[in-house]
Amino acid sequence: MKKPINIAIDGPAGAGKSTIARQLANRLGILYLDTGAMYRAVGLKALRTNTDMRSEPDLERMLNQTVLDIQFGPNGQQVILDGVDVTDAIRSSDVSRAASDVSAIPAVRHRLVEMQRCIAEQRDLVLDGRDIGTYVLPDAPFKFFLTADVKERARRRLNDLQARGETNLSLSDVIDEVSYRDQQDSSRSMAPLKQAEDAILIDTTGLTIEEVIGRVLAQLRPQQL
Ligand code: C5P
Repeated sequence: MKKPINIAIDGPAGAGKSTIARQLANRLGILYLDTGAMYRAVGLKALRTNTDMRSEPDLERMLNQTVLDIQFGPNGQQVILDGVDVTDAIRSSDVSRAASDVSAIPAVRHRLVEMQRCIAEQRDLVLDGRDIGTYVLPDAPFKFFLTADVKERARRRLNDLQARGETNLSLSDVIDEVSYRDQQDSSRSMAPLKQAEDAILIDTTGLTIEEVIGRVLAQLRPQQL
């Protein structure tokens, strides 16, 4: 069987990864896996069950009583947590912080990385996250690292949150959330947020979505697709 083509897109919150990854996958006619959604689902479960997010044994116990399923439907990826569709519920600002907290715990990462590798083994995929190029799929043939100025990233996140009905947040609240996650995601000991040596860096500050897609597409060698 032909080895699946995996395209890794990493970077900090609000750098434009999910928008770019989704559109790129559409254009290439392949699936998009949003790995952040998996950490968000675990964060949501920890919030709902009052689990101590700094305690590895408590989180492991919680995971042993959790069924997480990722499905790909006509509207893209759906996240099913214990039989319930939480695709929208995981997008709140509280869940963002919780996702970052639980993602620092190795037991959580081991479980989710195993699932991600299993999904990527079976099909062509665009994956976005923090550690796809460095840890999940270090041999991926295409790797991109997107970044942008922190204020612009917070502005984009605020727009997303407002579009989803979270209208009680100010720009400075979102700068706090994004900075909290940047700091925690880059400093954790296991698979921190970091540009892979062979990843192509794209600073998306001031670029349109179309311009970023154009830069990504220009790097994809057609004979490898
Ligand atoms: O990408 P998104 O902002 O939805 O990710 C939520 C959180 O999940 C991130 O702040 C990060 O802590 C964690 N994450 C991770 N590794 C990934 C994807 C997300 O640690 N591959």
